[in-house]
Amino acid sequence: MKRNIVQVGDAVLREKAQDIPIESITSAEIQTLIADMQETLSDTKTGVALAAPQVGVSLRLFIVAPRAFEESAEQKRVYINPVITKRSRSTEDMDEGCLSVDGTYGSVRRFEKVTIEAYDETGQKFTRGASGLLAQIFQHEVDHLDGTLYIDKAKTVRDVPKDND
Ligand code: ZN
Repeated sequence: MKRNIVQVGDAVLREKAQDIPIESITSAEIQTLIADMQETLSDTKTGVALAAPQVGVSLRLFIVAPRAFEESAEQKRVYINPVITKRSRSTEDMDEGCLSVDGTYGSVRRFEKVTIEAYDETGQKFTRGASGLLAQIFQHEVDHLDGTLYIDKAKTVRDVPKDND
């Protein structure tokens, strides 16, 4: 079932989200949350990822949309209790937006490459390295779980057409 995407100003976006106990990853509650988030994200025009706090749930979970991947090769789309374990020395300014700050885009300094550790929707732990857009997504989404929005880091923010118009 599609859920409402909360907007900046809602307190849940500023909370530090809680870890999901590994044994409850396969519970109906978490599996329903994941399915609902996937439906919510796929219903957006431009969204490439969504963190649980963006649907009002303060848990450490984010999902990535198939459209974020360049190849159709098997990719992890669900990241539970994610931790960025490595960051490249090099950084770059990336153009970035957020479904919870709809109608804006900004330039944010991001690490070019990161490595993330997380659990998937079956409770299996995995590690992924990423660069470019996927690395940017990992950093943006982990920020969400710590109560940080891209506008906190952006050097400039500009208005763009809203996703939900
Ligand atoms: Zn966001």
